Amino acid sequence: MRYSLLATTFIRLSGCNLRCTWCDTPYAQELSSGKRTSIERILEEVRRRGIELVCITGGEPLFQNGTHELINALVDSGFVVDLETNGSMDISGIKRSEASIMISMDVKLPSSGEGESFLMENIDNLLEYDQLKFIIKDAVDMDSAFRFLEEHLPPCNVILTPVDNSGGDMLAEELIRRSRMNNPDSPLSNVLSRTRVMIQTHKVIWDPRRKGV
Ligand code: SF4
Repeated sequence: MRYSLLATTFIRLSGCNLRCTWCDTPYAQELSSGKRTSIERILEEVRRRGIELVCITGGEPLFQNGTHELINALVDSGFVVDLETNGSMDISGIKRSEASIMISMDVKLPSSGEGESFLMENIDNLLEYDQLKFIIKDAVDMDSAFRFLEEHLPPCNVILTPVDNSGGDMLAEELIRRSRMNNPDSPLSNVLSRTRVMIQTHKVIWDPRRKGV
C-alpha cells in the first residue's frame, strides 16, 4: 500500500552520485552540503513530530553508508519508511521482510543526462507496494519510459511525472493512447493498469523553490 498525500516527515540526506541536468535539489548533491548528526538525534526529531510516515530522500540516500542503519532504526521504532532512490544504487541489502519499508525508485531517462545509470538488478528487488518513477521532459523520454516498461515488466506501481510539472496533460493522453492500443491480454497491460501520471503537489501548493515543504 502507498501512503501518498498523507502527512510525512522528510529526512533529506546530502550527497549524490549523479548529476541530473534538471535536478531540483542541487543544494543536496554534495556530501559536504549537509550537517553532521547522529541517528539518535534524527530519531528524537522524528518522534517529536509524531507522524507515522517518514520519507528518506536526498541527494541520493543510499550514497551514505549509515542509511541502512537509519532505516532499520526507524522501522524498529514503529515508523513506516518511504525510501526515495535514484535507481543507480543497489537495494538488495535493504531488509524487506515487512511492508514498513517502501521504495520509490527513479529510472533516469535521456534528458537527465544520466540515462545509463539504472542498476538493472534492482528490478528483482522491487515489491508490489513499491513504485518506479519516470521523470519525463520530452518525446524521447516518453518513448524510453514505455520501452522500459515493456521490456522489464516491473512488479510494482509506476509513476510518470513531468519535469517542472508542465506537460502532464500530454503524459496522461499518451498513457491513455498506449493503454487503448495495447493488447489487453499482454503482460504489459497489467503494468499499464498500475501506471499513473503524477505531478509534484507541493510545487503547486507552495512556491516551487521553497524548501522544507
Ligand atoms: S539523482 Fe536526484 S539529487 Fe541526484 S542529481 Fe539527480 S535529481 Fe539531483
